[in-house]
Amino acid sequence: MAARSVWRFVDWTLSVGTSGSGPIYVTECATCGTSSDAADDTEGPETWCLQHAGRTGHTGFRSTITSFFRASPADATSLAEPTSDGVPLAVPRQAPPPPPPTKARTR
Ligand SMILES: [Zn+2]
Repeated sequence: MAARSVWRFVDWTLSVGTSGSGPIYVTECATCGTSSDAADDTEGPETWCLQHAGRTGHTGFRSTITSFFRASPADATSLAEPTSDGVPLAVPRQAPPPPPPTKARTR
């Protein structure tokens, strides 16, 4: 029995993930590298910056916001359509290859 592969191409979209946590905020001192606790809003990390500045005199901070995304097929039914084998299968569509270079004109 020969092995056989079935390929289907599907467009995918990316959207903000809503099933888990929202964005997570953390600030870090640019002088000593100490960081705030992670929080789900900016208030805690910003307060930490002010307290850290008051204690240490360090005045530069870096903020990191971690957001979550979810990839899903653009056409939600495309994964539900079984192949001829009865197995749903999806493969992200790849960008088409770039066009061949045009010939330079010579004089
Ligand atoms: Zn510091």
